[in-house]
Amino acid sequence: MDDGLQQRVEQIAASIPITDIHTHLYSPAFGASRPGDPGGDPLLLWGIDELLAYHYFVDEVFRVLPARSEPGSLGPAQFWAMPVADRADLVWQKLFVERPPVSEACVGVVDVLTALGLEPDEPDLTRYRSWFAARDIDAHIDEVMRLAGVTKLVMTNEPFTDLERSRWLENPRVADDPRFAPVVRVDPIVERWPEACRKLAAWGYGVADDLSGDTIGEVRRFLDEWIERARPEYLACSLSPGYRHEPDSDDPALHDFARLFDECLVATAREHGLMLALMIGANRGIHPEMQIAGDGLGKTDINQLVSIARTHPDVTFLVTLLSREDQHELCVTARKFANILPFGCWWYLNTTSQIREITRMRLELLGTAFIPQHSDARVLEQLIYKWRQSRRLIGECLAERYIEAERAGLSVSDAAIEADLDRLLRGNYAARISAGVH
Ligand SMILES: [Zn+2]
Repeated sequence: MDDGLQQRVEQIAASIPITDIHTHLYSPAFGASRPGDPGGDPLLLWGIDELLAYHYFVDEVFRVLPARSEPGSLGPAQFWAMPVADRADLVWQKLFVERPPVSEACVGVVDVLTALGLEPDEPDLTRYRSWFAARDIDAHIDEVMRLAGVTKLVMTNEPFTDLERSRWLENPRVADDPRFAPVVRVDPIVERWPEACRKLAAWGYGVADDLSGDTIGEVRRFLDEWIERARPEYLACSLSPGYRHEPDSDDPALHDFARLFDECLVATAREHGLMLALMIGANRGIHPEMQIAGDGLGKTDINQLVSIARTHPDVTFLVTLLSREDQHELCVTARKFANILPFGCWWYLNTTSQIREITRMRLELLGTAFIPQHSDARVLEQLIYKWRQSRRLIGECLAERYIEAERAGLSVSDAAIEADLDRLLRGNYAARISAGVH
């Protein structure tokens, strides 16, 4: 490895302002959690208790608790009945005090505490709790964004969630914070149509379960109204790994899925000049007792994505797949379809080894025409460790490509390196959202 080039790339990477294109963070106007006070239905989560009670640690802590057959065991139902602070205490004791933190998520919390100027090895959470309780949330968001090197956070706004819907309806200016950009999440329409249909009907839309009458037009009216209300940068749709895009199918369920997908979601994206983000591969609730920590993953059939990209050449699909095994097929498919823009190392792939492997492969197959990472942060401070790590790894992988280019006879200037990193960390996304007519 050429250390000089490596260092230059890392230094330049540290100066590029990042756009985080997919998070579950919200501006404070949506309601922020208050350290030490569990009430209030907050949408923006932050602080030590939320960090440690996050679902990443729920499955990890169950791996080290006594087995269900042993004395002192704790079942998922008992765990979930505990207050957030007690869950955080248990996670700290088991995963940080009784053994050195090793996993990706554990080391991440250590990095967060250190970056915030705290000692990362306190015997309990008392000091952290009082430190967070003294923070002003607005100033704290600025500080976290500065430490993460992020200048814009893209939210995931969910109009089918009653709590979030009420926040938008109560306050039309709820999303006015310039640090946060809205996105409208639409997957209930295709993934859970009967439930979405019941909600739409209750809200006054003339929809029918079997798509009869003007159902398609009414779903489009709902989407148009939310685009008007939220002014999203794109539409987002999470799909289970076994989804099928078969418009010509004789199976009514498949036929309806394709109609809702093509004639509602894609048609709306097209009309408003928006990208449609597809996040494919979460297998929801494989262990239902674990609740939000009970989701697994599955491989998907890339031919379904080919069918979507081929049917709709005039709409750009931001695509991330959850299964490691699907990553190479996604790169090859994106080479064929310029309207597929791969993004991020999602969820279980957002780890050191997987970011390295996937970013290397994408650079080799796609050059710099993709979006290497998003944080998916659901607790504010997660931004710090996720971006410090990803920025470093992306720089490392890019430097490897420049070393290959230099070996082949080309020298790469700092200006060219800066332009590449700007594309990867901000520009490829910015170019596509400004390409829309919206
Ligand atoms: Zn997400």
